[in-house]
Amino acid sequence: MTAPLVIDVRGINKRFGTKHVVKDLALQVHQGEIFGFLGPNGSGKTTSIRLLCGLLTPDSGEGTCLGRDVLRESAAIKREVGYMTQRFSLWEDLTLAENLDFIARMFGMKHRREAVELALAELGLTGRRDQLAGTLSGGWKQRLALAGCLLHKPRLLLLDEPTAGVDPKARRDFWEEIHRLSAAGITVLVSTHYMDEAERCHRLAYIAWGTLLASGTAAEIVAGQRLHTWEISGNGLHGLSPALRALPGVDLVATFGATLHVSGRDGEQLRASLQDFLAETELAMAPMVPSLEDAFIDLMQGSQDPLHA
Ligand code: ADP
Repeated sequence: MTAPLVIDVRGINKRFGTKHVVKDLALQVHQGEIFGFLGPNGSGKTTSIRLLCGLLTPDSGEGTCLGRDVLRESAAIKREVGYMTQRFSLWEDLTLAENLDFIARMFGMKHRREAVELALAELGLTGRRDQLAGTLSGGWKQRLALAGCLLHKPRLLLLDEPTAGVDPKARRDFWEEIHRLSAAGITVLVSTHYMDEAERCHRLAYIAWGTLLASGTAAEIVAGQRLHTWEISGNGLHGLSPALRALPGVDLVATFGATLHVSGRDGEQLRASLQDFLAETELAMAPMVPSLEDAFIDLMQGSQDPLHA
């Protein structure tokens, strides 16, 4: 059975002055889903997330979030949302428990002490409850910020680039928490620039310059780009990209470690071009399933910033 829809909106628009930042956004997200937003900086990811969750009111559009009207009931939606911004703030000279207690007071929560202890326990922070927040590493600070967002038991969690600048181990641990919350029925909207994180989302949307260009599972997004991709490897790859890009049938060349991924929509033309080109070289070519990153690079290449076009 499909989980109920937590977000179900269409035709959502937002302008800041003359800037049309979100254009006709339509989106459906199910309860317990981890839904990722990707796209270039300044494309409207944060604004879209805020519009969906009552933190900003759309100029036009219709639909619901948590069963409430996104245009008329934003105050009620906001109460059931936990929001972790890129630059979350902690009081460095308060302990972890004091930080959470402070947030619980701001929310006017009734059973503050229990809520704080529960949030500490849920995120494995009890052993550090009396430590000053300022002495925590980046990964633990982030965990404390997440605990703060969960105190009032939100049904929907918004994470705006929550792991920017955090080391890989702490990022993995953080994602374990996100999956645990999702399994408990909490819906998560998360924006990220990291491919490994994108692949951890149940579904994704790619937004460029205010327009949602693709959405679905990682596999659906890759399939939707209809790319044929070859991996080129061997000595002498360096500096070949411009020449490869100029070949008939080549739409995309991207470097991945010691290999190049060369993609195009016309599979036959691409293969013929590459075979001719590589015949004179020591390089090898092997067909591969395009990666999510190939698909995103292709999407980005196909879109243009209207302000800088
Ligand atoms: P992203 O999250 O994809 O980086 P944002 O949603 O933060 O993009 O921003 C999209 C565009 O909207 C940017 O050009 C940004 O400068 C602009 N913007 C965002 N919030 C405001 C605001 N409150 N007032 C005016 N412009 C804004």
